[in-house]
Amino acid sequence: MTALLDARGVVKRFGGLTAVDGVDIRVGAGEMVGLIGPNGSGKTTLFDCLSRVSSLDAGSVRFDGVDITRHRPHQVARLGLARTFQLIRVYRELTVFENMELSIQWAQVGAARLFGRADPATRRRVEALLEFLLLAPLRDERAGALSGGQRRLLEIGMALMSEPRLLLLDEATSGINPTLVAEIADRLREVNAGGVAILLVEHNVRFVAELCHRVVVLDRGAKLAEGTPGQVMEDPAVIEAYFGAEGE
Ligand code: ADP
Ligand code: MG
Repeated sequence: MTALLDARGVVKRFGGLTAVDGVDIRVGAGEMVGLIGPNGSGKTTLFDCLSRVSSLDAGSVRFDGVDITRHRPHQVARLGLARTFQLIRVYRELTVFENMELSIQWAQVGAARLFGRADPATRRRVEALLEFLLLAPLRDERAGALSGGQRRLLEIGMALMSEPRLLLLDEATSGINPTLVAEIADRLREVNAGGVAILLVEHNVRFVAELCHRVVVLDRGAKLAEGTPGQVMEDPAVIEAYFGAEGE
């Protein structure tokens, strides 16, 4: 399998703390991979390194054969790697539609055209994605008025605007009611079936087990296990990392 994303030996330190400690991670074209691990195990920090929001202290990241270790986030977005954030980033005062328009212009041409009018093709793409994500009835609502789950869907829509080949999702379901979680799972399955690879950071282990072909487990910044959801959930080291304190 040639990897779409191929990161090796990724290290990220904050002062004396090594948040990510030499992690190798690969995602194949069209694959859906879960990244799980206890709180503070380095999942978001690894995402920041992969999407080039943070610099690496060691290691390398390749995307589609291109060394992106020193790329800037908008360059990475242009190559086809998009991400969402654990803390949702939408413009609360703008409408759902305007947020969608802005997201693509950032990836395409940078800030210069931010306040111009989107072209017709972009507007059609916004319409189609809002329809797909069940947000069409909310297109003229202020983003600040959406529920947590609706904002999650909007953020996924914003990430999909640039037609990425790899989508990094950080905590897509946290704080969202179960009905909407099932809805998000359905949408992600469909996005993935359309050929978009997905790397999913999740708290909700069941969600990951249902969706992902392969799971990577982090613990204290290092890779603890990797395999199919079934293999990983039965791995004694994984059970220990999640439930160790209670089990003894
Ligand atoms: P996760 O997403 O798995 O919960 P994080 O990547 O957010 O974990 O955090 C990993 C570790 O790095 C934690 O100990 C956290 O406190 C620390 N950390 C994360 N971001 C920073 C930062 N900007 N400055 C200092 N420490 C940080
Ligand atoms: Mg996190």
